[in-house]
Amino acid sequence: MARLVVVSNRVPIPDKSGTAPAGGLAVALQSALEARGGLWLGWSGRSCADDAVGPLQMQKEGNIEYALTDLTERDVEEYYQGFANRVLWPICHYRLDLAEYGRREMAGYFRVNRFFASRLLPLIEPDDLIWIHDYHLIPLAAELRRQGVTNRIGFFLHIPWPAPDVFHAMPVHEALLTSLTAYDVLGFQTEHDRENFADCLSRRDLAARLDASRFATDGRVFTARPYPIGIETEEFAALAKRAAQTALHKRMLQSLDGKQLIIGVDRLDYSKGITQRIDAFESFLTRHSDSQRKVTLLQITPKSRSEVPEYEAMQRAVAEQAGRVNGALGTVDWVPIRYINRSLRRPALAGLYRMAKLALVTPLRDGMNLVAKEFVAAQREEDPGVLLLSRFAGAAQELKEAVLVNPYDVEGTAEAIARSLAMPLEERRERWSAMMTTLRANDVFTWCDTFLEDLAAKPVQKARPASVSTPVRTSEARTQPLRKAMSTPVARWS
Ligand code: UDP
Repeated sequence: MARLVVVSNRVPIPDKSGTAPAGGLAVALQSALEARGGLWLGWSGRSCADDAVGPLQMQKEGNIEYALTDLTERDVEEYYQGFANRVLWPICHYRLDLAEYGRREMAGYFRVNRFFASRLLPLIEPDDLIWIHDYHLIPLAAELRRQGVTNRIGFFLHIPWPAPDVFHAMPVHEALLTSLTAYDVLGFQTEHDRENFADCLSRRDLAARLDASRFATDGRVFTARPYPIGIETEEFAALAKRAAQTALHKRMLQSLDGKQLIIGVDRLDYSKGITQRIDAFESFLTRHSDSQRKVTLLQITPKSRSEVPEYEAMQRAVAEQAGRVNGALGTVDWVPIRYINRSLRRPALAGLYRMAKLALVTPLRDGMNLVAKEFVAAQREEDPGVLLLSRFAGAAQELKEAVLVNPYDVEGTAEAIARSLAMPLEERRERWSAMMTTLRANDVFTWCDTFLEDLAAKPVQKARPASVSTPVRTSEARTQPLRKAMSTPVARWS
């Protein structure tokens, strides 16, 4: 089995006790790296002066070697805070209005990708499979190819790929599209994302589409497929079951005092639709006034990217909005919205999901949304809660038995909340059981195995293109790969 090399912006380094600090994705990748032997390279999270970038910091844990590099302050500002988080993130989430293009930031993004390539180059062995993750590192394969690397290289995009009219508004879109053709396997969260990408290629005549997933350019063939990311379904279900026995769980139940719990869990981000959700909850309480004092919305919203001005403004706006609703509708012994800015650990979160009657997962746009999947996995089979899910989350392509809503339609969402809370047990069980079957069939280990099987597969023969601009749209039957025997415990979120 070929060695695996993973590259991502940040690396979930295990702490001194060997526990990884992140969720399902880190667990799945670490398990694949452990089985094959491998290397995981990324940014250390530290910045330094221009002339002070030292050698790679290496750390070995079992079969996995971690390699971390510092970046200069200018690199962090231009590549990470600038182009990745203030251009690519908003564009891929359909927020053209928030994208701040600057030539300095764009140049910085390509420069840092070149730098990552130069750091990785001396560590690559001839048969290594290289798997690069997410929007920070789109041009990395093209840089590696330029420096002579011929290994199989795959890329997985964790966020959405937007429609061509949105993507093409970005000044460097053609350079980014071209650089993606240097990969052997491109992975997207959904069929919709893959088709948007294919439409972008075809509008710019950058590659010929050979069939549903194969494209040809410059004498080489690459594939692009949906690989919807999963969670560690069984492990998360077991975690939620255990969490129901803890003191925190009992305190929370006591504090609810018989009220029904509705839960929302989202990083503070404009893509998550938190203000529209609070509007919908307020509208629900106003239209269904008999529900007042009977329900509580617990909105858990850890801060993220506070250095970006839009996030700082949003932090203030959401806090004010929750305060206004509580002031207008609350009573001396009932607070409609409990709003928390702290990050909770996964066991605590799992227990709260299990306690909730309803989850509001209403992003305006989301690559997948793992919270939706975790909520389903955490439910009690005999009396499951309801998942209310935005049509614009990648998860809605798989979890079709959720109550699907348009988050921009505040009144429609308010009515869906009322319907969900009144849903009969039998319907809740049917919907839950169908969703759970999906989550079991495609957990994060299956996701990882499927991608790596495709990456390791022998290159396909080049075929004659049907036409450069004729997209072929077929749904692909995915084979279920063998799930790796997994004994890794669920990791801790810090
Ligand atoms: N999460 C957590 N503690 C928190 C909030 C979130 O551990 O207080 C985890 C959550 O369990 C999930 C992840 O953060 O695994 C969020 O993933 P998702 O795909 O929903 O959204 P993202 O933040 O990646 O956009």
